[in-house]
Amino acid sequence: MAATLNERKLLIAGEWIETGDWIEVRSPYSGEVVGRVPKAGANEARRAIDAAEKAMRDPLPAHKRAEILVRVAGYLGRRHEEVAQTISAEAGKPLKAARVEVSRAMSTYTMSAVQARTLAGEMVPMDASQAGAGKLAFTLRLPVGVVGAISPFNFPLNLVAHKLAPALAAGCAVVLKPASQTPLSALLLAELETEAGLPPGWLNVLVGPASELGDVLVEDERVRAITFTGSGEVGWRLAERAPRKRVNLELGNATPAIVEADADLEAAAMKLAANAFSFAGQSCISVQRIYVARAAYDELLARFLPKVEALVLGDPANEVTDVGPLIDRESRARILEWVEEARAAGAEVLTGGTLEGELLRPTVLANAGLELRVSCEEVFGPVCTVSAYDTLDEAIELANGTRYGLQAGIFTSSLETALSAAQRLDFGGVTINEAPTFRADQMPYGGVKDSGNTREGPPWAVRELTEERLVVIEL
Ligand code: NAP
Repeated sequence: MAATLNERKLLIAGEWIETGDWIEVRSPYSGEVVGRVPKAGANEARRAIDAAEKAMRDPLPAHKRAEILVRVAGYLGRRHEEVAQTISAEAGKPLKAARVEVSRAMSTYTMSAVQARTLAGEMVPMDASQAGAGKLAFTLRLPVGVVGAISPFNFPLNLVAHKLAPALAAGCAVVLKPASQTPLSALLLAELETEAGLPPGWLNVLVGPASELGDVLVEDERVRAITFTGSGEVGWRLAERAPRKRVNLELGNATPAIVEADADLEAAAMKLAANAFSFAGQSCISVQRIYVARAAYDELLARFLPKVEALVLGDPANEVTDVGPLIDRESRARILEWVEEARAAGAEVLTGGTLEGELLRPTVLANAGLELRVSCEEVFGPVCTVSAYDTLDEAIELANGTRYGLQAGIFTSSLETALSAAQRLDFGGVTINEAPTFRADQMPYGGVKDSGNTREGPPWAVRELTEERLVVIEL
């Protein structure tokens, strides 16, 4: 094991540092130690903010920022397999999904470079009012300031990329705190940014006790914005504690998909089976609740269940694995408890619901009421519910019936139905004839209600990390 141990250091002010204390990174599949990183505390966090603030005193021009971003995309391409292996080892993500994540991160960097090169303010039509006549005015788009970025375990590379690349495009220095369970991909990405020519201080990466590091980011006034992806429980508390900062939140969902009777049921079944269980359901837009028109219910299930049962469970390092482990045993125990709760309340387990070795088999539940945790809370595991409905109104009410609102989907061959649903589903995004798990990295991505308050995707994230300054000229 020692031969493959991935040891990385923290990055502060352009230096790779140790602290004397280490955090072990374990494979969620085997439990083996796959890497270790130094453990940072409040002192390192303050040093990181000092470095970021100092770096921003000497702004990097847009063309340099764009060049660095493009170079990072290239380096990710060159080291594609090594990065995918790192993600897979620390997150337990099946290798084929990890490879997709690396390609997506390349896209996130490439799209951010475009934003860096095109970032501009707007002209203000001053002679539109008598008060403005005789003046010229425009806005400058300026970096918001030092950004504190906090990322989750489930996309340990691409969700870090969605923090770092738009921040650099916007001209902001960053202090990043990746998830403690998956810091290796983030530190590898930091290495690529420094190799790409990022000057010292523009990116600082800390791993350590979340509340201690989070407190410093919240309390230090020099951190002007916090960009957070993770659970609502943590995210909304951060926002409450930092009322004078921008706190951009990308949070969870209990993702619904509606299947109308006129849909292509084979295509819907295929997309739903793949997207309810990929990475063991540990995506914020993993399909969790499937609502099927009663006339199509039996046929949809007859097509869907064999596809679920054909998914390959196993070692994430294996090329053919579709479904690997959950991030930790606590998550597995929680999800099994929720499934038991549903079963006790009368839900029927159509498939799964048990362990295969250490892995939770893909689980489909019927007759699980909206009041059950498998329906109304975010499962974040390989579990989905299927329910029949009688009218589209009922389906939309069910889909809208949780506190979340990130993405939802509908399968139908009727344009009218699709567009009506798109207008009435109370979510940040609606997919039509595509699983609601779909995301391309340039899309505006984010939620309403408890799912968040922002949009990521480089064009939108850059807007969120810049301020407009008005300039008025007397002619
Ligand atoms: P989490 O437990 O909320 O952790 C997310 C990050 O917050 C981690 O870096 C964590 O650090 C940190 N953190 C925890 N407590 C903190 C505190 N008091 N102050 C500051 N930071 C703190 O979420 P997770 O389990 O990693 O990720 C799963 C959640 O993320 C799900 O709800 C999922 O839906 C959501 N998610 C949303 C999106 C989106 O774009 N909308 C994308 C992916 C995931 P430690 O690791 O050190 O505890």
